[in-house]
Amino acid sequence: MAKENEIANIYALNWCKWVPFKCNIHAWRAEMDRISTKEALGKRNIPMANSMCSFCGTNVETANHIFTNCLVAMAIWDEIARWFKVSPFSASLVRDLLNIAKASGLEDQKKDMMHGIIIISCWGIWKARNEKIFEGKDEKPK
Ligand SMILES: [Zn+2]
Repeated sequence: MAKENEIANIYALNWCKWVPFKCNIHAWRAEMDRISTKEALGKRNIPMANSMCSFCGTNVETANHIFTNCLVAMAIWDEIARWFKVSPFSASLVRDLLNIAKASGLEDQKKDMMHGIIIISCWGIWKARNEKIFEGKDEKPK
């Protein structure tokens, strides 16, 4: 029974064919909270100086925070909304973010482009977060 429930809870990501495989996998894992955020590491008793977001420092670093309502992510989503000429969007869950393009009202080809760019952006945010932590780089959205 437990196994059936686990399978039912696995998120079916709308895979984006033109996006690198690693980016799709990353988005899928982020949605399931299976990436090594500070909160996730803390749950595994890995010692850290603090559990706050590596970008803004004002919220606990969770997948939902980094990719949806962190200031860094929100600046990127605003820019994407401007590119696609859709209303600015926000989400509080990674799952909602990954469904934004579907609900955008854009034609199918543009929906697919927007979805792919959101997936790639999540990868970029994670990469920037890791570079900031491990290499001391501090990229601000331009
Ligand atoms: Zn943040």
